[in-house]
Amino acid sequence: MSINLETLTITKAHKGLKAGDFSVKELVDEYLLVIKEKNTELNVYLNLHTDIDQQVERAQQMFVDGTATELTGIPCALKANLMRKGQVANASSKILENYTATYTATVVKRLEDQGVVFLGATNMDEFAMGSSTENSAFGPTKNPHDTERVPGGSSGGSAAAVSAHMALFSLGTDTGGSIRQPAALCGNVGFKTTYGGVSRYGAIAMGSSLDQIGPFAKSAQDTRIIWDVIKGQDKHDMTTLDTARWDKDVTKQVYSLAIPNDFLHGVQPDVLAKFETAVSKLEDAGHTVTRVSIPALQYGLPVYYVVMPAEVSSNLARYDGIRYGSKVPGSNLLEEYISTKSQGFGAESKRRIMLGTYVLSAGYADKFYTQALALKEKMKQELEELYKTHDFVLTPTTPTPAFKFGEKSADPLQMYLEDIFTVSANIVGIPAISMPMGTVESSGSRLPVGLQFMGRYGDDSAVLDIAEKFEQL
Ligand code: GLN
Repeated sequence: MSINLETLTITKAHKGLKAGDFSVKELVDEYLLVIKEKNTELNVYLNLHTDIDQQVERAQQMFVDGTATELTGIPCALKANLMRKGQVANASSKILENYTATYTATVVKRLEDQGVVFLGATNMDEFAMGSSTENSAFGPTKNPHDTERVPGGSSGGSAAAVSAHMALFSLGTDTGGSIRQPAALCGNVGFKTTYGGVSRYGAIAMGSSLDQIGPFAKSAQDTRIIWDVIKGQDKHDMTTLDTARWDKDVTKQVYSLAIPNDFLHGVQPDVLAKFETAVSKLEDAGHTVTRVSIPALQYGLPVYYVVMPAEVSSNLARYDGIRYGSKVPGSNLLEEYISTKSQGFGAESKRRIMLGTYVLSAGYADKFYTQALALKEKMKQELEELYKTHDFVLTPTTPTPAFKFGEKSADPLQMYLEDIFTVSANIVGIPAISMPMGTVESSGSRLPVGLQFMGRYGDDSAVLDIAEKFEQL
């Protein structure tokens, strides 16, 4: 039996499974076949989970028992920094190469309870630092739309998995854009919730005040199905918000959208043209669009590249070969630390650890870290003011479509500019989604680009609502 994976969504797959058009095993086998065909070239999965057969059996049984839900039997890919007990979770780092998870992340547990079938761990930038997956210790992932180009990052493998039909949905993490940017570059939906919307328990930490786990999916509707299951309070993560937070009905028929006009000058012309087409469609559908100036957004990148490395340097300190990470022996303790970290970490991780320890060091902390925190407050206030009169801030997700391997990796600052539209949502903790807004042409390839909606703190449901409305246009 052959299932059309191109047009398949979670909703459709569930109908097929429920009607008995195909079994869980047949569905999963279709995906495994594509993985077998494409993984050597695309490098999407680092490894497959060892218990797929048992998961399939259990999911099928849920259909027999009548306990199946919309997610039962649906194949999912996991970013390699998300833990599932007994499976390798190495965050694409040499230092964790053979690390096997000793417990299961809350989000994974919640999806397991629904009978989701986890296929394997996807490639990423080491410890989620990057925008192209070129920082993986295990080679880059290729963009399924053009294999000479990056899939984005850091969750590049998870984004490519959905586009290449190697999973029906996937999970990633977003610290400064790592779900939304690769979703845009690979042409699918990527959602980052309000900070605390989803438990971080069982995610290998990068920047704890910024990290959120979230889904990649083929549609806004599928995204909502996943989010409804993974969201909400978790006793293992004190920063999670209680579910009642989202019980209020915040959705409207007509929304008010703000475009930070003075902030769009760096956007590539053909991407800007797609953006304007999307804006017109929203206006034609009756939503109000206002061109505004949001000076706070200018602080996004500078604040992010101080706060994030500070947190990275502290989170990565545990990989010393003693507490965590594979040890490279030395003749004394100091040498052992040095050899372990020099050989275990890649260049970008080292760069950020050094930057982070620098901005936190005595004498410099006030100059950099404290200033960044003050600016973060300013950004929060300015955006809160704006959200009194507007429901969403609208931008392209990225200034350009997928770029070629090596194009930006030699110049870290060039790479950091990829995040210009995405980092602010993490800094102030608001929800944001990237939706496909068509393709642009570049040297013979059609490359997807994304539209970003940033919502009010806690208005995740409204973000998904406008995304669904936009999708229908
Ligand atoms: N690209 C950004 C960075 O390099 C974002 C990473 C992320 O969200 N994990 O930090």
